Amino acid sequence: MELIVLGCSGSAPSPDSPSSGYILRSGDSLLVIDLGNATLSPLQRWADPYDIDALFLTHLHPDHCADFAPLDVYRRFHPDQPYDPKQRRLPVYAPPEVPSRLAALYAPSSEQREHTDLSDIFDFRSPPVDPVRIGAFEIRAVPVDHLCPTWGLRIEAEGRVFAFTGDTGTCDGIGKLAAGADVLLSEASWLDSPDQPTGMHLSGKQAGKAASDAGVGRLLLTHYSPWTDQKALAREAAEAYDGPVKVVQAGDTHQI
Ligand SMILES: [Zn+2]
Ligand SMILES: [Zn+2]
Repeated sequence: MELIVLGCSGSAPSPDSPSSGYILRSGDSLLVIDLGNATLSPLQRWADPYDIDALFLTHLHPDHCADFAPLDVYRRFHPDQPYDPKQRRLPVYAPPEVPSRLAALYAPSSEQREHTDLSDIFDFRSPPVDPVRIGAFEIRAVPVDHLCPTWGLRIEAEGRVFAFTGDTGTCDGIGKLAAGADVLLSEASWLDSPDQPTGMHLSGKQAGKAASDAGVGRLLLTHYSPWTDQKALAREAAEAYDGPVKVVQAGDTHQI
């Protein structure tokens, strides 16, 4: 199983990275997890958007779903389609309000939205709280604690376990999705401080503690803000977690 980081910048793109987006690949099976601002560009360097088996949107903040609109354009209007996207709709696992929210992103006026039904080429489904099998992957969604309905993911393939927090503050959900995982990809938006709000994001220290509590094999930090000190973030996490810690970069690949 291979993780490809399309973008890892938290809340807004940075000079060095798009917002959140990842490819997870196992053999011919290909998942895309989140599709934030500017991620469709690197996605096309790694994969044909028609080859995606399923798209998972952890939640509907723009830094996790803004490039859904250009993906719609790509799949709907590409002049040389390998198959009819209406006959083979792309499964999109996302919060329940996703069709209206993404239609509003795609069609800017109420008049246009009257004629916009994205379900002709996308198959919208709720986050899989009961595991689903997609190609080589088994995927389970676990609710986490953020500003809007948000899910983290636990994904198994090739006898390995990959866990992703999505955006979250400290919560029990992280322990459920990450228990014993080989790799935890954890958001770490900011440095630890008593002034940071709860129920929103993790600090490097909180991500490290979550990795330690869950007994994961390796910790990858992502979703750090453009203004967050990456070295300090890694140091904080390493003080709370004994295993290997790495701050991911756009364009990275990681074997799980
Ligand atoms: Zn975010
Ligand atoms: Zn968010």
